[in-house]
Amino acid sequence: MNQTAAEITLELQRRAEFLPFHRPSIDEQDIAGVVDALRAGWLTHGPICRQFEQEFAERVGAARAISVSSGTDAMHLSLVALGVGQGDEVITTPFTFCSTAHVIEHVGATPIFVDIEPSTMQIDPKAVDQAVTARTKAVIPVHYGGHPCDIDAILAIAEANGIAVVEDAAHGLGASVGGRPIGSFGTTTCFSFYATKAITTGEGGMVTTDDPALADRLESLRLHGISRDAWRRYGKGGAWRYDVLEPGFKANLTDFQAALGLSQLSKESRMRLLRTKIAYRYSAAFGELADLVQVPIEAQDVASAWHLYPLRLRLENLSIERDEFIDTLESYNIGTSVHFIPLHLQAHFRQAYGSGPGDFLNIENAFERIVSLPIYPDMTDDDIAYVIDCVAHVTKSRAR
Ligand SMILES: *Cc1c(COP(=O)(O)O)cnc(C)c1O
Repeated sequence: MNQTAAEITLELQRRAEFLPFHRPSIDEQDIAGVVDALRAGWLTHGPICRQFEQEFAERVGAARAISVSSGTDAMHLSLVALGVGQGDEVITTPFTFCSTAHVIEHVGATPIFVDIEPSTMQIDPKAVDQAVTARTKAVIPVHYGGHPCDIDAILAIAEANGIAVVEDAAHGLGASVGGRPIGSFGTTTCFSFYATKAITTGEGGMVTTDDPALADRLESLRLHGISRDAWRRYGKGGAWRYDVLEPGFKANLTDFQAALGLSQLSKESRMRLLRTKIAYRYSAAFGELADLVQVPIEAQDVASAWHLYPLRLRLENLSIERDEFIDTLESYNIGTSVHFIPLHLQAHFRQAYGSGPGDFLNIENAFERIVSLPIYPDMTDDDIAYVIDCVAHVTKSRAR
């Protein structure tokens, strides 16, 4: 019962307006916060960053939070602060954004890739354990899609081998394991405030840690390796004297970004609840398509942040491939995305490490079938229902 996209279109009323894959939630409170920060007269790293850091640390149950200019910088500075460098190995998964691996390369270390566990699509702790060598200095697990990775197992492996855990929690804000928030587990946890993430500052990131010495070093590294922040140097009553401790980076957040971050943080749990409701509505509706699609699961005792809704097509029962599925949804005015194109299949990693097809079968299997559906707080009931109708219609009309 194959039908062309044109024939399918005849049967389902195509909406007039394009539904984007993501739209950040920016309201008048956010705008007022940024405007106030601009009027305060201190644009760059200052007291509003401090407040954002304090409230963020409290939110995720960490002793310290260090704001930085991106999630990528959060991971990069973590590795530098931990002394990871030339000749060292860092274990991570290729089922992530490229910067997770780039930061390992930028400190001169070698990324060691391991596969995911198929049910949750999270990094497989058994594979991590097998990849540990005498050179391993750290592991960067990714909380893919906002679902927590098996952090307890990763921490146990890290402890047994004396290696650091730098969590890529770019998707993980608001996720928890046994009621304990992501941000309170690893040696450091790295968050992103990029425009598509759970909360945004446009660009921005945060490192959380319970280690005071590591936190001090991160604070220094993010601003040139200087021992004091600019606002304390130039602010009223601040000392003019500072010391340069090491060659640091220019990776600080600004006060007007932090103002947006504070305002966004105040709405984080509400926005997460809205995403969770969308995920549950999708999964309930797709229950009747169980032969055609595989819905993302929430493992026992964890709460996903539902940053993504990664649906897997059951290609064996469909006469449509993932790419055509995406094009067809696009023809119905629905934006989607794919998370992620596996790193080991991309040109740089093939050339640098000789990786290629067949290396990580669970990741490749997921990648062939996966599509991320729209999931964000500003979606209306009609938007959600329309996505459900389209997915049901397209898959049913291409069932075999
Ligand atoms: C977004 C993202 C990053 C990078 O965050 P930036 O703030 O854009 O630097 C890293 N890892 C994952 C999994 C991401 O989704």
